[in-house]
Amino acid sequence: MEDRITLTIGRQKNIALIAHDGKKAELIDWCERNKDILKHHFLCGTGTTARMICDKTGLPVKGYNSGPLGGDQQIGAKIVEGRIDFIVFFSDPLTAQPHDPDVKALMRIAQVYDIPMAVNKASADFMLSSDLMDKEYDHEVIDFGKNIADRAKSL
Ligand code: PGA
Repeated sequence: MEDRITLTIGRQKNIALIAHDGKKAELIDWCERNKDILKHHFLCGTGTTARMICDKTGLPVKGYNSGPLGGDQQIGAKIVEGRIDFIVFFSDPLTAQPHDPDVKALMRIAQVYDIPMAVNKASADFMLSSDLMDKEYDHEVIDFGKNIADRAKSL
């Protein structure tokens, strides 16, 4: 497709880990059980989630700000920059979040950039057991340079 470019998610993925408070224990347990796979990738996450996973599993996880203080937005920005290419986000569907707009923005930008995103344990299990986890993956995203050029010409 002419308005698309091919980007590659490398063999070693840049994985963002996020859990709302009611789901943190579940994500930590999931990370512990999947340590042998996760240790081969680059891990980051929102501040509190990253710190707790690090403390409880020993996995190195680079922490951004806490979610309600802009961490989800930082992760969204890294997606735009091509520096995060895989998300595991255990969101809590039963608790209102003060930063709900940020959460929606992160999900939206993950869709725009065709980033694999697991929102619960089952989807994370399916994603992590995919044979694509240790392969390169080419995907098509909107050609953002061309998009700007076209818009600047036509608007
Ligand atoms: P936290 O943020 O890891 O700093 O708790 C997660 C979130 O609520 O988005």
